[in-house]
Amino acid sequence: MSDYRGSLEEAARFMRKHDRFLIISHVNPDGDTTSSALATALMLEELGKTYVIVNEGETPAKFGFLPRFEHIRNLSTDVVDETFSAVIAVDAADSRRMGDVRHLFSSDAVLLNIDHHPTNDRFGHTNVIRTDAAATAEIMFELMEAGGFTCTNELAVCVYTGLLTDTGGFRYSNTSPNVMEIAAKLLRYGVKPGEIAERCLEEITLEHVQILRRSLQSLRLTHNKLVASLRVTHQDLVETGASSEDASGLVNYGRNIEGVEVGLSFVETEPGVVKVSFRARNQVDVSRIAKSLGGGGHAKAAGCTMKGSIDEIEQQVHTKLSEDLGVAADE
Ligand code: 5GP
Ligand code: MN
Repeated sequence: MSDYRGSLEEAARFMRKHDRFLIISHVNPDGDTTSSALATALMLEELGKTYVIVNEGETPAKFGFLPRFEHIRNLSTDVVDETFSAVIAVDAADSRRMGDVRHLFSSDAVLLNIDHHPTNDRFGHTNVIRTDAAATAEIMFELMEAGGFTCTNELAVCVYTGLLTDTGGFRYSNTSPNVMEIAAKLLRYGVKPGEIAERCLEEITLEHVQILRRSLQSLRLTHNKLVASLRVTHQDLVETGASSEDASGLVNYGRNIEGVEVGLSFVETEPGVVKVSFRARNQVDVSRIAKSLGGGGHAKAAGCTMKGSIDEIEQQVHTKLSEDLGVAADE
């Protein structure tokens, strides 16, 4: 813990030492990485520093209520014609999770890596890692306190959103006393919990419902009904007009079925490229399986992206699960 405290202070010094920063949220950005990137931006503003926030792709519009959201540049559409010597990555478990951003690093670039994934490989020059934090946003709150930053309403909204989304609305087992204490403090800064929950958790797109309807037809129970798999083909996405973001959350429908230990979703985001999501109850640490397939995450929520046909990939994942569960897929 004292190492962690020391790393928070080192991070604050890093933010004071440099003048211009590149802030990176992870690929397929979620509420935690987006909120943590924007919280970083707000703290840098307080120090009078300048920054560019990037994501390899598009950040979901539902996070548009977050302060400075409009500053996030989408590298698949926006040109960033600059290199940076001070880089901050938030919520990225390994360097690949930052996406294709290397061209933005100067040759002497120093990297601050702030994250909470147990599979984090400490790819930064400075690493602020607390694997029992529920969200990177929880670490951002601790950085705010350790660095003597001011808790404004805008910063509170960012931290609260990261906590809310990475705990599934304060329901998952990572919802610790510390999370609840921080959330309570943030409410005193004027955060509107109902409004943020409505935007982040309740509101869904019509395309999400259309892709849900299709994917439920693909539901398959294997491994003695311990594993529930759903799939979305690229053709499903094209025919419903859904984006891969619209397909997020499908994995929970399988995992939530009574008796199921592992929920899986296989979403073919591009022809031959499949994003696999893992959600576990108790028996299996899915971060280990995802890591062995080139991804990572947490014990109960993990993911990876694989190349090949959905059939082959599903079979490969099922075989890995058979080893952990001690049950063949077809039993
Ligand atoms: P999701 O299935 O919602 O995309 O991701 C679940 C968890 O696994 C998140 O914590 C996410 O950061 C992590 N995750 C998803 N895909 C990958 C991946 O390809 N690599 C790593 N290291 N983590 C991933
Ligand atoms: Mn996170």
